[in-house]
Amino acid sequence: MSRKKVNRYIIPKEGTQEERLDLMLTQLDLQHIRSSYKNVHNRIKESQGTEFDFLESLCERESSQREENRLLNWTQKAKFPFKKTLEDFDFSFQPSINKRQINELRTCRYIRRGENILFLGPPGVGKTHLSIGFGLEAIYNGLECLFLQLDKLIDAVKKSDENTSPALLRKYMRPQLLILDDIDYYKTGGNASEFLFKLIKQRADEKLSMIFTSNKHFNDWGTLFETKVRAGAIIDRITSRAEIINITGGSYRLKGKKYKRISVRKSNEPVLTRS
Ligand code: ADP
Ligand code: MG
Repeated sequence: MSRKKVNRYIIPKEGTQEERLDLMLTQLDLQHIRSSYKNVHNRIKESQGTEFDFLESLCERESSQREENRLLNWTQKAKFPFKKTLEDFDFSFQPSINKRQINELRTCRYIRRGENILFLGPPGVGKTHLSIGFGLEAIYNGLECLFLQLDKLIDAVKKSDENTSPALLRKYMRPQLLILDDIDYYKTGGNASEFLFKLIKQRADEKLSMIFTSNKHFNDWGTLFETKVRAGAIIDRITSRAEIINITGGSYRLKGKKYKRISVRKSNEPVLTRS
């Protein structure tokens, strides 16, 4: 919520004390103190607290409400496709994930150092869930985050032109953490490929963190950047300062469903069917 601009602060001389307080608290933008001071006063009186206890409780109320609003606002602005935290993640289902590495990343020090995270693995293993979990951790720590699915980014770039594309680039450069989800099957082509190259290069140069999720190993991301030279340059930039988390377990979507191996395809990939 943006703060209202006040040109002149007025000290009211008329009206009841309650009316005068209302006016000044509104003017000072202390809405939460305004709506709670009577209840807080009663509580402090009951507990025989001092005037300083009263003042402290009012400040606490204002701060906690503002923080709650900030979290809500920043979470909405991050445009997560769903809201799942790291607490919601069942790490025992994915033993390939190193819990110590997760706990270190949780501190968000990697963002302050401008490093990246890559979540790699097959569908359903929780890559998007973990990226959102880390996005929320960033927001709790006062760092802005934006979540983008690669196909949506490509659509937005395709709709932009010479005039609007710099604004789009600025928008994606702004948050301290940018999540690029599903770096998989897309062929970018034309201006989207160039835009993606510019965005990743510029974020890397300015030490702004990114989280990538992909079903494919980053060595196979070449098609996104059209030329091998470009792909190599960009992948180097991403991976030279990255924590790579390879999730090798099964899909959580299939959890509890029993499968048995019935045949082996030419590619040696097992074919699974429900038993
Ligand atoms: P991916 O991005 O790897 O395809 P998702 O993150 O979309 O997978 O996960 C699919 C669904 O399963 C989501 O609802 C996610 O919250 C849930 N999920 C995946 N892994 C876990 C897990 N280990 N613990 C709890 N929920 C999980
Ligand atoms: Mg996903």
